[in-house]
Amino acid sequence: MRKRGALIGALAVLILGTAYWFFMNQSEATMEERRAESVAFTMGTIVNIIAEGEAPEAAIGHAVAELERLTDMFDRFDPDSEIARLNQSGDEWTPLSSEVLGLIEQALEMAALTGGAFDPTITPLIELWGFVETDSDEGSDSPTPMRGVVPPATEEIKNLLKLVDYTAVQVDTDSGRVRLALPGQQMDLGAMVKGYAADRAAEILKAQGVGRGLIDLGGDLYAIGSRVDGSPWRLGIRHPRDSSSIVGILYVEDKAVATSGDYERYFEYEGVRFTHILDPSTGMPAQGVMSATVVAPTGIEADVLSTAAFVLGVDRGLALLESLPDIEGILIDTDYRINITSGLGDSFELRSDSFHWAEEAGHE
Ligand code: AMP
Ligand code: MG
Repeated sequence: MRKRGALIGALAVLILGTAYWFFMNQSEATMEERRAESVAFTMGTIVNIIAEGEAPEAAIGHAVAELERLTDMFDRFDPDSEIARLNQSGDEWTPLSSEVLGLIEQALEMAALTGGAFDPTITPLIELWGFVETDSDEGSDSPTPMRGVVPPATEEIKNLLKLVDYTAVQVDTDSGRVRLALPGQQMDLGAMVKGYAADRAAEILKAQGVGRGLIDLGGDLYAIGSRVDGSPWRLGIRHPRDSSSIVGILYVEDKAVATSGDYERYFEYEGVRFTHILDPSTGMPAQGVMSATVVAPTGIEADVLSTAAFVLGVDRGLALLESLPDIEGILIDTDYRINITSGLGDSFELRSDSFHWAEEAGHE
């Protein structure tokens, strides 16, 4: 794969967890600018980073250290983490670091923006459904082993649904405290932490002089600048039913991209696939979308909005994305139709015969 010259211009394809990224093999890098690539396991996923700059290896080292810090910080299963302390506090006011408090504030703003389709207080239902990791993957088809194998009783869903309400979360910025006002309420920032982490890693790489690079946190990506020849980064959008092939290629520069898919964590029961993204209005796994990809200026926006679009479904999801400036998206529905926002234009190239454009998108 590294044969220089003969392979210049050949496509190198890397399979990375829930996403793939593509890049052209580059010709000799200039003396000052070097390229480094690194694979790490952190944030519960395989992390791939490409960086080009004067000291790319050191820059990547700093970025990975930051990812490790964030992994610990937002681990709700670690009883000492701030999120766990908040969840154990009942309805008491809990002092939090300004970083966690700031993220909770952003989560609440995004929850309002999505009309509650993204709701960080969905946690008790995630637990009830068993979309939580376990060491044994008995009876589950999920690529990530998890506890759930059968849907819970309707009555139990109804009961816990009462705790799902982001408007009951109170933030006191002056004293740096947060309160979950409904007793039993739980918070989890799992649908946005990887996006935040991508933003932080990109910030660090840029501050370390990296002008071109790609961060892939297994489905949450951040593209810094362009490729060395000035062309955009090429990201492969995963085929939701075949992890070894792609639906198409997304071209991006200086953007974050996140995908929420029904293939990440799910179980099948009586022929129905129940996936890990729940509709907070019903407490049921969202149906109708196989994957939702969002392109945004920040990883947080891409991450939250991909989860929200997945919940909202094609019509309402696209309408939300269309209503927001600088946000684009691709929704693949369960009928293998590709639905894209109007601003995406030629940035997405369909590369699979198994999928077809939705008529409304104005494509053939
Ligand atoms: P993502 O992969 O970014 O779409 O995030 C999915 C994770 O977010 C799930 O594993 C749940 O822990 C959590 N989650 C599921 N549904 C929602 C929702 N409607 N709002 C917020 N978080 C959710
Ligand atoms: Mg998300």
